[in-house]
Amino acid sequence: MKLIVVSPHRGDAAFGLGLTIGIWLQQGHAVEVVNCFTRSEFAPYSDVQSLHANDRMSFATAVRKREDESWRKQYGAAKLQLMDLNLKDAPARLHCAREEVFGRAPDTSEKVVSKIRRAIALGKADALLLPMGLSAHVDHVSARDAALLELRDGMRLAFYEELPFALQATSAQTEAMVNELQRVLGVQLRETFVSGSTPLTAEAAEQRRRKIALCYDSQIDEAGTAEIAAFGGTRGGREHFWGNAAWSNLHE
Ligand SMILES: [Zn+2]
Repeated sequence: MKLIVVSPHRGDAAFGLGLTIGIWLQQGHAVEVVNCFTRSEFAPYSDVQSLHANDRMSFATAVRKREDESWRKQYGAAKLQLMDLNLKDAPARLHCAREEVFGRAPDTSEKVVSKIRRAIALGKADALLLPMGLSAHVDHVSARDAALLELRDGMRLAFYEELPFALQATSAQTEAMVNELQRVLGVQLRETFVSGSTPLTAEAAEQRRRKIALCYDSQIDEAGTAEIAAFGGTRGGREHFWGNAAWSNLHE
């Protein structure tokens, strides 16, 4: 099976589905992460602010690319594929402040929509994993909605919770988001877990998630890393997502 995980920014797929991606690769599936808005000045725990304004984007973009590469290497020979779309992130693209990226209408500009659609179409995936849009971050809802335009009949479709936003969301908020997606898309979505042949203990899952999150240390500090690593502790460390009916005959 070929799976595409849409990651609005570098790190979104890793934080939300890092363990699950590892299981799929071990099972012999092909996994491609489509990184959408990869050009960014956002790297608050790097030296970016000490640079001249003109140099910040190329610096932060390169730092974040290296972080993604170090994450990819954790899967070793299983070869996770990364596809970068080189779109600017919301503050650079929409000229808004960093706190103004939430709650805006999806970006339906030709450049954004066509690049994302093309990547999905070329990827020829059997399964599509999309960010839920939990934070209402404009880059997340734009990536989700553009990717949905390439949904084909019979395709496995699922939505994952984005971190760190999911840390603040209540289960009622997540449920409301799932309900909204079901309503808009006219599909039933079910909470889904993927377990490997030797399921990890909660402690081992947390350790592995910590190792993944540590790749992105220009993005998150020590406390943020610990929170992301521990997310899922109440589910025995398991990551989850919400999948359509086509998922249910696959993993259980
Ligand atoms: Zn993001």
